[in-house]
Amino acid sequence: MLVNFAELAMMRISGVRSRNFVDQPTGLFNRLRFEEDIRITLLNGKKSLVYCVDVIAPQALNDVVKALGCSFAQDLILAIKARLQTLIPSGRLLYKVSPTRFGFILDEHDAIDSVCQKIIDDFKTPVECQHIPIPMQIGVGVLPVLEASQKDQDWLRLVVSAADAARDQNVGWACYEPQLDAAQQRAFMLLSALHDALTRGHQLSLVYQPKIQLPELTCESVEALIRWNHPTLGVVSPAEFIPLAEKTALMQSITFWVLDALVEQARAWAAQGLHLRIAMNVTVNDLQDSRLVDAIEAHIQARRLDPQMLELELTESILMSKPVSVLHELERARRLGLHIAIDDFGTGYSNWAYLRKLPAQTVKLDQSLVRTLETSAQDRRLVKTLIELAKGLNYHVVAEGVENNEILRLITEWGCSQAQGFLITRPLEDKALTTWLADGGFKG
Ligand code: C2E
Ligand code: MG
Ligand code: MG
Repeated sequence: MLVNFAELAMMRISGVRSRNFVDQPTGLFNRLRFEEDIRITLLNGKKSLVYCVDVIAPQALNDVVKALGCSFAQDLILAIKARLQTLIPSGRLLYKVSPTRFGFILDEHDAIDSVCQKIIDDFKTPVECQHIPIPMQIGVGVLPVLEASQKDQDWLRLVVSAADAARDQNVGWACYEPQLDAAQQRAFMLLSALHDALTRGHQLSLVYQPKIQLPELTCESVEALIRWNHPTLGVVSPAEFIPLAEKTALMQSITFWVLDALVEQARAWAAQGLHLRIAMNVTVNDLQDSRLVDAIEAHIQARRLDPQMLELELTESILMSKPVSVLHELERARRLGLHIAIDDFGTGYSNWAYLRKLPAQTVKLDQSLVRTLETSAQDRRLVKTLIELAKGLNYHVVAEGVENNEILRLITEWGCSQAQGFLITRPLEDKALTTWLADGGFKG
């Protein structure tokens, strides 16, 4: 038999191609084919609506894998696929566009809300897999692809961002909006610029906000807060870049940068005879492994720092994925002699049962509760009760966000041990802080 090598080669290539278009576990067409089909639709001058269904948060899928194994997770995705296939308009292709996301393409005339609502309603019932019901967290994103000028758009990224926003905001489905993209692009720009800031220096600095003892009004400790002054973007608030960095490995570099800067500062102050306890903010991710506490320990030994002069303020803006490691690291820090405070208490996930497990001596009442004390009778009752409970459990209570004398009077009367806030002073650079202290600090 004659073998036509050219033909064989072509068959190989097309085999490889078609395999490249298929998501192996589900047998559905994949992201590449999805994008190819959108491109072809546009080339044919057709207007279409691109859908992305995000079925389960990646973290939740991870938890399923950890608890029940990979093959269970694979069966779960197959069960989701089977359900979705019954929900999209007949004759339409379902694509698997990422580990937790499916896509499909409809004509521009298909009614968006009824298509989406059908999917959302159906997935309110958990997906049954090997007789175990698994709840879904659905977000559907829709991207209208109507004009030839959209040919260079990154369709998948846009429709995925709409699906993510729909789930995050708990609205079920959302059409792509350019503002969403603007927010993502800013996040991307900030994260790339932050990488430079960390490696090139001179853009990041620390400021220090005094905490005063109550009722004496003396200042024995400060909180270190990071500042970022970018050459073209200007001042970027930590409230904006820290939550972004927390989703990446950059957070760890920031934490180490802060630790080094703060240790230098502590040494400089000690050399001037200034003994202030410095608190640094840490997030749960910083304590998922031993590196931070190792570094603190190394600093304490190498530089003869008094560990009593260091404090960790733990904020919990993300759920703990490894609570045991976090507890272990906090206990190590505590044994070293550091103080531990729970930041932003009274918001988020904090509760008493959870608090009791942490080796903390201090809770910092969140400023959102403290700032409204004057205007809200309900907040007054809540804060007074929180302080009583915390003190009953032997915690020091720090009130942050103290903006006027009336608030200071109330929290002093209720027994807070320390106050921090704009009334006392805004965060100060090191030199301004030493001047402020030399001038007598807060005089009431
Ligand atoms: P936080 O740790 O709760 O810090 C207190 C924030 O409240 C600071 O904002 C401070 O400037 C502000 N503040 C203090 N007193 C008042 C007041 O009386 N009124 C009002 N309206 N605000 C007050 P900042 O510096 O913008 O930091 C925001 C958040 O960013 C911090 O909240 C902390 O969670 C995070 N952050 C700042 N620096 C770092 C850091 O070095 N590492 C980490 N992981 N997070 C940091
Ligand atoms: Mg703090
Ligand atoms: Mg706070």
